[in-house]
Amino acid sequence: MRENVSLAELTTMRLGGLARYVAEIDNESDLVEAYHFARENNLPTYILGGGSNVIGRDEGFAGVILLNRMKGISVFESDAEKVRITAQSGTRFGDLVEFSTKLWNGDSFGYSGIEALAEIPGSVGAAPVQNIGAYGQEIGDSLYRVGVYDTREQRFRQLTKAQLGLGYRRSIFNHGAEIGRYFITNVTVELSKKWMEPPFYNSLQAYFNEHNIADLTPAIIRKAVSDIRSRKLPDPRWVASSGSFFKNIYLDPEAAEAARERGIPVFDNGKVAAGWLIENAGLKGCDFYGMRVSEDAALVLINERAKSYADLARARAAIVAQVYDKFGLTLEQEPVEIGG
Ligand SMILES: Cc1cc2nc3c(=O)[nH]c(=O)nc-3n(C[C@H](O)[C@H](O)[C@H](O)COP(=O)(O)OP(=O)(O)OC[C@H]3O[C@@H](n4cnc5c(N)ncnc54)[C@H](O)[C@@H]3O)c2cc1C
Repeated sequence: MRENVSLAELTTMRLGGLARYVAEIDNESDLVEAYHFARENNLPTYILGGGSNVIGRDEGFAGVILLNRMKGISVFESDAEKVRITAQSGTRFGDLVEFSTKLWNGDSFGYSGIEALAEIPGSVGAAPVQNIGAYGQEIGDSLYRVGVYDTREQRFRQLTKAQLGLGYRRSIFNHGAEIGRYFITNVTVELSKKWMEPPFYNSLQAYFNEHNIADLTPAIIRKAVSDIRSRKLPDPRWVASSGSFFKNIYLDPEAAEAARERGIPVFDNGKVAAGWLIENAGLKGCDFYGMRVSEDAALVLINERAKSYADLARARAAIVAQVYDKFGLTLEQEPVEIGG
């Protein structure tokens, strides 16, 4: 247990005041003990993995941060077509992806299902929280079940995929009445021997063409995604950001038609790419109060010089207002916030 730790130290955007307590959780008994401590002292709790989707506010957090460090990966069961792999929730998500693409499947190496999620920073336990997704895959497509500590019933339980309320960047863990109820202790994914098939994302297909790749094994897709991402996304070890700062927008058919008439590209499912809006509002590369809109990926806000959450809030307001003025659509922030 550490006291008075800066939220900036625990989160990749590197902002925020002090957390009163930080408890490092290595196993289930640490977890039960930390919740017990918080209850005894009447303190709120907050779970953090890699802090890559959480922004610290300047007021800090007057409670107990549960810093998840429970590690380990094991094969839970497999048959001729599928494998189920369980990872402890503090495992690096990238390690689970690497493990799955290197596992012998009886005929060759690698199981498919999460290979396009390569290089998404953070922990396995956070993956179902916002149903992480990239390059045409979402963790929800491959989830089998999730092990949790239920703080209401004070016991460990299993939740099936159907109980998780998964949608675009959402689940029961970040929407509705159950927020804060569960600590995810482990995640089981069910992966297939069947490889991913076209159509692929444009940038992924372009990479395959450029490198003359036809053999699309999970390991090759993982490598392709890693290469593409490393060219355009900041590495949180060296550059302060939370990755995509704004969510894509989904419009109903009427609003989609109106947007198309205004020249905004809308996908068949009503999706408007938030990155397109920011770029076409002329904001790529612009600096707002020490926060820069990335030159390489307009959706990413980089903390270059911002000293406080207040600076970030001013930058966000400026970007949202400029996009609204130009396109009449309101951007919403993707990362969640802690403190205040
Ligand atoms: C450079 C960069 C690129 C990114 N690219 C993508 C991308 O392509 N696609 C994508 O979807 N996301 C992306 N992200 C966002 C982020 O990596 C993911 O949301 C990731 O899952 C967060 O993991 P974390 O361990 O850092 O979670 P944290 O930021 O620590 O936590 C995120 C939320 O999950 C909750 N939480 C964490 N662990 C648990 C647990 N064990 N039980 C219950 N709740 C928990 C936290 O309380 C918090 O609300 C990117 C971020 C960065 C910095």
